[in-house]
Amino acid sequence: MTKMTDFQQKISVFTTQCQLRFDEPMSKHTSFRIGGPAEVMAFPRNKEELSEILKTAVFLDQKPIIMGAGTNILAPDAGVSGLVICLKDCLDGMEQLDDTHIRVAAGVTMTRAALFAMNLGLSGLEFAHGIPGTVGGGVYMNAGAYGGEICQVCARVEVMDLTGNVCVLSGSEMDFSYRHSRLEDEGGIVISADFELIPEPIEEIRNKIQDFLGRRKSSQPLDLPSAGSAFKRPVGGYAAALIEQSGLKGYQVGGAAVSTKHAGFVVNMGGATASDVRRLLQEVSDIVYNKTGIHLEPEIRIW
Ligand SMILES: Cc1cc2nc3c(=O)[nH]c(=O)nc-3n(C[C@H](O)[C@H](O)[C@H](O)COP(=O)(O)OP(=O)(O)OC[C@H]3O[C@@H](n4cnc5c(N)ncnc54)[C@H](O)[C@@H]3O)c2cc1C
Repeated sequence: MTKMTDFQQKISVFTTQCQLRFDEPMSKHTSFRIGGPAEVMAFPRNKEELSEILKTAVFLDQKPIIMGAGTNILAPDAGVSGLVICLKDCLDGMEQLDDTHIRVAAGVTMTRAALFAMNLGLSGLEFAHGIPGTVGGGVYMNAGAYGGEICQVCARVEVMDLTGNVCVLSGSEMDFSYRHSRLEDEGGIVISADFELIPEPIEEIRNKIQDFLGRRKSSQPLDLPSAGSAFKRPVGGYAAALIEQSGLKGYQVGGAAVSTKHAGFVVNMGGATASDVRRLLQEVSDIVYNKTGIHLEPEIRIW
């Protein structure tokens, strides 16, 4: 058995409720299937356990890293020292607040939230069906697809700061912009989000979801590990079209490749490392810039 680090010993003494795992491979928790061990990974089951682990982190002078379902993250090969808090199985629950509003806990998947709204005859979250992350991750980065975006429907967000205190921010206070919210600049953990939706017949909502799902299945490499679109949409074009025009479909570095099905996706062909993906992103970005003069910026959060 390997010797526990000083931090692992201390956090196991001060944490009474929350499940902890030591040297937990990040590759087990990211959709890319990439990433070395997290020194400590915490799996709080509810708000109270989350608050406890945050207070312990403050006490031990550690700034935690937050993750949801790990579907938009490239974790480093060398692993992560310190504390990673995984919220995927924490913060569950959805409720209807009134005729047009629902509240969804941050750990719920975007797909479950979209189906919950559909079954209530509420339209607005159809775009979220098929985005594999959690509502917390989706709010944090203003996820979107097929013309829909979290910012269009997000009325309020309950946010916990890294000391365990909770506040409520309105949709406009979240300062949403393309794949960005203020939480990215200021920190803070999404606990739940209220969505303002529009009543519509369930059949019409279901048809939109099925249309989006069909488009996803026919255009995206869902059979290979990835983190979704690798690059943000640049001003003046679409990343996938620019990459394809630059002749980079199938371009490979180590085990990482530009998908042959959708040039906007980088996929793990088997055994890809984070450094393969980083090199591929850089080379693709450089080649596209040289050919088109347009700069591509990663959408994937690179830790
Ligand atoms: C096949 C595939 C298709 C995809 N399609 C789309 C798409 O159509 N549109 C789109 O926008 N994205 C898409 N994505 C990317 C991804 O699913 C979304 O960005 C999703 O919102 C990320 O949520 P997550 O829970 O996985 O977050 P993670 O990947 O775990 O984390 C992403 C970031 O969010 C932060 N975060 C996570 N949870 C919280 C929280 N509760 N509070 C505060 N910060 C938090 C993390 O610190 C991290 O910086 C796709 C990914 C894949 C693999």
